[in-house]
Amino acid sequence: MNEDLRSYIENRLKEAELYAKQGLVDEALEVYRDLRNLVSEEENGLKQEIQKRIFELEAFKGVVSEEETPQDSFEERLKKALILKEGAFYQQAIRLLEDLAQENPNPEVYRHLAECLAALGQHEKAANCLKQALRHFPLSPENRLEFVELQKKLAEELEKAYEFEQALLVYQKLKEELLGEEKVQAEEKIAFLQELVQGAAQLKFLFKEKILTPSIGKEALEIARETGSSVESVLIEKFGISKDLIGQALSRFYNCPFWEFKEDLLLGKPQCLEGVKESFLRQLLVAPLAKDDGRLALVMANPFDLGAIEQAKKILQVKEFEIMVAIREDILKLLDYYYGKLEYFEAPELEILPEEEPVEEEEELPEDQESVVVQFANYVLEEAYNRGASDIHIESLTGKRGAQIRFRIDGECIPFQTVPYHMKRPLISRYKIMAGLDIAEKRLPQDGKIKFRTRTGKVFEVRVATIPTIENNEDVVMRILGGVQARTLEEIGLRPEVLEQFRRILEMPYGLILVVGPTGSGKTTTLHAALHYINRPSKKIWTAEDPVEIVQEGLRQVQVHHKIGLTFARVLRAFLRADPDVIMIGETRDEETAHALIEASLTGHLVFSTLHTNSAPETVTRLLGMGIDPYNFADALLGILAQRLAKRLCPDCKEPFTPTEKEIEELIFEYGNHPLRPLTEEDIRQATLYRPVGCHRCNQTGYRGRVAIHELLTPNDELRELIVKAAPVHEIREAALRNGMFTLKQDGILKVLTGETDLKQVRAVCVR
Ligand SMILES: [Zn+2]
Repeated sequence: MNEDLRSYIENRLKEAELYAKQGLVDEALEVYRDLRNLVSEEENGLKQEIQKRIFELEAFKGVVSEEETPQDSFEERLKKALILKEGAFYQQAIRLLEDLAQENPNPEVYRHLAECLAALGQHEKAANCLKQALRHFPLSPENRLEFVELQKKLAEELEKAYEFEQALLVYQKLKEELLGEEKVQAEEKIAFLQELVQGAAQLKFLFKEKILTPSIGKEALEIARETGSSVESVLIEKFGISKDLIGQALSRFYNCPFWEFKEDLLLGKPQCLEGVKESFLRQLLVAPLAKDDGRLALVMANPFDLGAIEQAKKILQVKEFEIMVAIREDILKLLDYYYGKLEYFEAPELEILPEEEPVEEEEELPEDQESVVVQFANYVLEEAYNRGASDIHIESLTGKRGAQIRFRIDGECIPFQTVPYHMKRPLISRYKIMAGLDIAEKRLPQDGKIKFRTRTGKVFEVRVATIPTIENNEDVVMRILGGVQARTLEEIGLRPEVLEQFRRILEMPYGLILVVGPTGSGKTTTLHAALHYINRPSKKIWTAEDPVEIVQEGLRQVQVHHKIGLTFARVLRAFLRADPDVIMIGETRDEETAHALIEASLTGHLVFSTLHTNSAPETVTRLLGMGIDPYNFADALLGILAQRLAKRLCPDCKEPFTPTEKEIEELIFEYGNHPLRPLTEEDIRQATLYRPVGCHRCNQTGYRGRVAIHELLTPNDELRELIVKAAPVHEIREAALRNGMFTLKQDGILKVLTGETDLKQVRAVCVR
């Protein structure tokens, strides 16, 4: 068969599967029958495969068209369920099998149920079914092997469900039953799981939430052992897992609060430290901490270490205290702080990675000042990175007033530090040298790049732009690329029901998912959180971005380059030849890209992109306006998420208030109608509304950070029909509301009711 025909057939097969998956059995059959005629007799395997699928689908059609009758015997219904399972109609098969299992706890039924659940990625449930199967298994010498097979499956499912301790127990039991190669494999598995369970038991929660994969856990343990760091700090520094998440995991595991080293929140050295030798505490990894409420806490790396608690009690001579958990490095830092060893500007290992030839330093920097300037320049970059800033602004002030440095964090500029007059020019020159710019040129704007490595080994890029300002001054603006870490889906502020719905579409094997909104509405963050959710070693994920702002381990990220013709459309074509499972295209601007995206999602890939549209329903009309095929689009689309960022009420100073009649009316009016969940006066009276006040932490504005608001449209049959008909926006919106969508404004108002923001801010970012 020639290449073209082969790829045509492959694509059509995928198309047929897509139909079958959506329950469009007739359409699927039609494609298969076409293909059966197209494939010649010589392609024996393929022809048989197609024939088998046609049989399955025909059988399935018989099954679904028949009324479910209670008179059907157990065997008949089991047969039906197995036909459904064979045809990969797992959901329907599960429904039937669950009923059967209730009637008769037959191990066979449980085994099939487990296989269906596993096929849908529900490993925890699958493991539970296998446990049931084993419990009801009539064990005899003849069916011993079958029993062992079930145990093997159980162990595998438990491992996939991240229940390592349980999986370990099953493997240990199983080992005795196995021989030869299989026994060796089981032993290797046991060794692997033992290491994971012992070395990172405290991180169980991260495994369970799928934030940490077993292979990363293992790698982190190895690095920790080699470098002598704690596994927690390795995960934070090397694998980009947020400290908050690690803290939550530790707190849940040890059932006590998590403490993090933040110098500005410390209340000084506790009395009980008088005369205590620091080496004892370093050895025990325990440090006392004075708390706001006047009480004392012991901060420790392992709160289960009762011996250490006893010794600390003796050495410090304390009786009453609370236990808090912290990562080892933070405890050592706290001890450094108490014993005066904490130094910020000592930074001998800081380095710049040379991109081009190193530039000779110029005479403008006085000798004695030079190292201070170098260190200060590095310190600013490192601080900005650690605080999650996206940009650094160095702004020359007029006269002899030096310069001020501001960081843009969460979209807002925040003052960081001022620079004395005598350091202003050297500092700006230093950044120009780092970026390979001409330091003598001060009257024209220049731009360049710095590649920087922090003391903890993180490498990031900084785009540098200099701009001449009045009085022969210069400003420097630096954008940190790849400095922002990917957030998890839980962290981007989706309401629980939207989160669940979004997760459901992310778990689909293929289709199109769009995130839409104006520039600066947090689309990239959301896309990366979505990719983070599905990022597994078993998946190949390609992304094309401009610029690459977030770097994620496990993704293959490509920076598009319009000047040399490396456009989104071109990168996408290259991706399709590079065996992808998931593709993310940073932005869809033209028809060519839109068309290619839909093709890609119909041929078995999960495809993500963004569009500059205002709302989810509007996106449909926009894409159809670009001339894409409405049938293909309706088939491919899994969901459209529109979003905005509104200012968040400062959690430190916001003040609850009881709304007036007029304010209640206003909220209800702005919310408008919703067919499934109208907003009532009662709803508002039961909620606690807050208003902004202003404190030092929010610069007296009353707002700090931002809250995302979302509108998620997922198509049902009605919406697919409307798409095919190219229905007007308002019809699509109404159908979407009936299908459970909330408009941006409605989502925002629901977040006003939970006290995250206020109506004024919601109104400021969305019309509807
Ligand atoms: Zn405040």
